[in-house]
Amino acid sequence: MECIFCSIAAKKLPATMVFEDEALIAFQDIHPKAAVHLLIVPKVHRSSLAETTLEDTELLGQMLTRARELAEKQGIAERGYKVVINTGKDGGQIIPHLHLHLLGGEPIHGAV
Ligand code: 5GP
Ligand code: ZN
Repeated sequence: MECIFCSIAAKKLPATMVFEDEALIAFQDIHPKAAVHLLIVPKVHRSSLAETTLEDTELLGQMLTRARELAEKQGIAERGYKVVINTGKDGGQIIPHLHLHLLGGEPIHGAV
């Protein structure tokens, strides 16, 4: 079966897109855990943070910088927000394509 987030990036599956450039897409999580819950996803397939290398440094930096920009655009930056990259089984990762969660718009409770 094809990767869900690769399919969304290829527009083969729908998503509520909020950002796109050459490297990344960002869209609303289908089961939001907060008032604002976006997923920031590289177009290139990396199955998780564990599969990245130094060659992905720029891509990983872009994910964080776009998270900051999107938090400002969504109006949650002033109050604060959380960014999360679930990695592997114990990390609670369900979708095996690297993604960053941007959560905010209300107090975010979590392990850290
Ligand atoms: P993970 O636990 O892998 O870090 O999180 C995967 C996230 O992707 C979950 O929050 C889940 O709600 C979201 N998700 C799973 N399938 C889809 C989908 O088809 N579309 C969208 N927009 N979000 C999805
Ligand atoms: Zn993929």
